[in-house]
Amino acid sequence: LRKKKINSQEIYSGILNHDKVALSKGITLVESTNPNHKNLANEVIDACLPYANKSVRIGITGVPGVGKSTFIEAFGMYLTSIGKKVAVLAIDPSSSISHGSILGDKTRMEDLVRNVNAFIRPSASGDSLGGVARKTRESIILCEACGFDVILIETVGVGQSETAVHSMVDFFLLLNLAGAGDELQGIKRGIMEMADAIVINKADGDNLNKARNAKLDVNRALHLFPPKASKWQPKVKLASAYYNEGIAEIWEMLSEYFTLTKENNYFDNHRKEQNKYWMMETIQEQILNRFYQTKGIETLIESNKTAVQENEKSPFSAASEILDYYFR
Ligand code: GDP
Repeated sequence: LRKKKINSQEIYSGILNHDKVALSKGITLVESTNPNHKNLANEVIDACLPYANKSVRIGITGVPGVGKSTFIEAFGMYLTSIGKKVAVLAIDPSSSISHGSILGDKTRMEDLVRNVNAFIRPSASGDSLGGVARKTRESIILCEACGFDVILIETVGVGQSETAVHSMVDFFLLLNLAGAGDELQGIKRGIMEMADAIVINKADGDNLNKARNAKLDVNRALHLFPPKASKWQPKVKLASAYYNEGIAEIWEMLSEYFTLTKENNYFDNHRKEQNKYWMMETIQEQILNRFYQTKGIETLIESNKTAVQENEKSPFSAASEILDYYFR
């Protein structure tokens, strides 16, 4: 069976016509590890770029079990009900290591999956978090060109992936639980500090009082952090994703944030900074890729490892020799 040649023009025309099938194909192209696809992917991205940027990008993180999927389903359904088009992308740090997935389970988003105004894409896989993050970043552009105006980026709040997500969103939302200490939730201080809002989920039933107390505690903790460049004071909200409570209030809060940061220009400036950051990140990622894929490098590294181990060469002269082989 001969594979049909990929037509990048067909893909970007489809995306610009708001066709979700074309969007899926475009993202598959962006995610492809086939080096021949790189140029095609770049053609699609470049064609989409003038039509991107007209969205809000929201990062959502939290430990497994906190209710991310349930929350995204409820929040996404709410957003589509007020006329938004919602795309959900995921950065899954586990997929690069085990090719398994902690975010793979999208069964809790069954209504959103079927919603014509929603698009859900499970995490890209890749050899490195940097690679996965770049693909997600590129996919955001395609989603926006396809007419999606709210982009939700989900990640698990346990590794470094939230730093990557933080660097590609306008607003960073941390889902927490009441009652469990921060250690128990695996939430590092740094992640709390990055958050623009902390939503205490499962604030329902017997949990409600605990959640109210947790809200006071978290609020106090947030005030100890230095003020943000955005001039936004991070907020704590209660929600029950399962019972659909507090969802509209969270969108209201986000709208307040976007009004503030658009007025004080932080929104635009922040995106410009992120663009520069992503250019540099992509250079670093691609240099590493190309370096390790260079013919002969692997053998050269292996032989030098032996030499260094046997003290025949210093690690530094061995490294220079290997680098000179590439950068000659
Ligand atoms: P994720 O791993 O962060 O994506 O968490 P899930 O969305 O899969 O939710 C984990 C479990 O918590 C599921 O059994 C959900 O039904 C439950 N859950 C999620 N949100 C709520 C909530 O607001 N209240 C209650 N009581 N349970 C919830």
